Amino acid sequence: MHNLTIAEIIQGLKNKSFSSVEITQHFLNRIKTLDTEYNSFITLTEEQALAQAAAADARLAAGDAPALCGVPLAHKDIFCTNGVRTSCGSKMLDNFVPPYDATVVTNYNQDGVVILGKTNMDEFAMGSSNETSYYGPVKNPWDTNCVPGGSSGGSAAAVAARLVPGATATDTGGSIRQPAALCGITGIKPTYGRVSRWGMIAFASSLDQAGTMTRTAEDAALMLQSMASYDRKDSTCVDHPIDDYSANLNAPLAGLKIGIPKEYFGKGLNPGTAKAVQAAIKTYEAMGATVQEVSLPHTHLAVPAYYVIAPAECSANLSRFDGVRYGHRCDNPKDLEDLYRRSRGEGFGEEVKRRILVGTYALSAGFYDAYYRKAQQVRRLIKQDFVDVFSQVDVILGPTSPSPAFEFGSKGSDPVAMYLEDIYTIATNLAGLPGMSIPCGQVDGKPVGLQLIGNYFAEAKLLNIAHKFQTETDFHTQAPAAIK
Ligand code: GLN
Repeated sequence: MHNLTIAEIIQGLKNKSFSSVEITQHFLNRIKTLDTEYNSFITLTEEQALAQAAAADARLAAGDAPALCGVPLAHKDIFCTNGVRTSCGSKMLDNFVPPYDATVVTNYNQDGVVILGKTNMDEFAMGSSNETSYYGPVKNPWDTNCVPGGSSGGSAAAVAARLVPGATATDTGGSIRQPAALCGITGIKPTYGRVSRWGMIAFASSLDQAGTMTRTAEDAALMLQSMASYDRKDSTCVDHPIDDYSANLNAPLAGLKIGIPKEYFGKGLNPGTAKAVQAAIKTYEAMGATVQEVSLPHTHLAVPAYYVIAPAECSANLSRFDGVRYGHRCDNPKDLEDLYRRSRGEGFGEEVKRRILVGTYALSAGFYDAYYRKAQQVRRLIKQDFVDVFSQVDVILGPTSPSPAFEFGSKGSDPVAMYLEDIYTIATNLAGLPGMSIPCGQVDGKPVGLQLIGNYFAEAKLLNIAHKFQTETDFHTQAPAAIK
């Protein structure tokens, strides 16, 4: 049952091949037996899941249930869930039980989705390897000596290990696409503003966007349909018509114009990764697409600009965690100063502290113009690069990450080496564009991701382009050897 896609589960529920309670129990059992190895979940919500499944079965029996009704999914532990601990991978929020649901969670609840639990992640979504979680690292099901990518590594590993057919995730600089690539699954980060950020714990507010992790593009379309909404509670959410994401999945690609950015194939790219991506481009040509080289000349400035803007925004967002209103509070504070100092000192991990320090510095009087303003100017140039390219082509293709999954600890001592993991994904966030990663091959038995970048609100087109690839290839059906 766990090899079924979301689309197949929907069919199975409709045909009464199994009930929602049965399939929910099946996935819960898998998580309980197998996740001791992967550590992809922080919290399992067994009782609640079974109650939701029973309610979904009643709704299905009554007819006209929403498409996802009765399908078990999981949420990244960054989305507030009413009555269920939401840790954001941090000791700071180890004891935080939100009194409300994030809009994304509400949307799925209304559609009758069953929530199995909350997935592991890098602390406050800062990282590319899931090694910064307070709850310990997540292991990559393809090779347990390797990282699953981050920050949504728990969601990616859980989907790859068939512990859940789909999961929510978030992407500030690559945290959906990079772990999707490293775990051999399909991830989509929609256009900034397509999905509400309300109740999603903020890292860098101008970059954060929620999306999905599934095995197929067809499933991503189903999940995104329920997730996307206009929400007055998030002032950056855009009131833009929501496409029917499943309607044009099979539209032919003849005449599709693909742009290949020359900057995405320079030094630092693993040769095996490059080969798999080139082969994928050939597959598109065989489907009738035309390919042209394009240039995104400010690509080399994306990582430096991001590592000013994201820490600056995080230093402001994380100032609320002070041990007073909620979150971790130190024992026996001497005075207020000591309370702040020790609560924050004890509650945050090393990477989070590093970012708060960098961000506070970049925003401080005297440095603001040199760093923050300059980074925002660079951001505008990066956006303009994409606007220019999208006047010539329909989609941009390239690698998602420079190399396949790496070993634990291999980048630990050098934060900049870790930051470069997102060299191909970060510019998309700075520009607010939608991006996807789909599996397109393997290097030494580890998956490679193909990145697809679309124009604003072109999610339906991206899903179509991804789905067509998945009708021609079987990379998305391959499972880690340990998974039966
Ligand atoms: N790896 C990047 C970072 O550490 C992106 C994280 C993310 O997208 N949440 O900031």
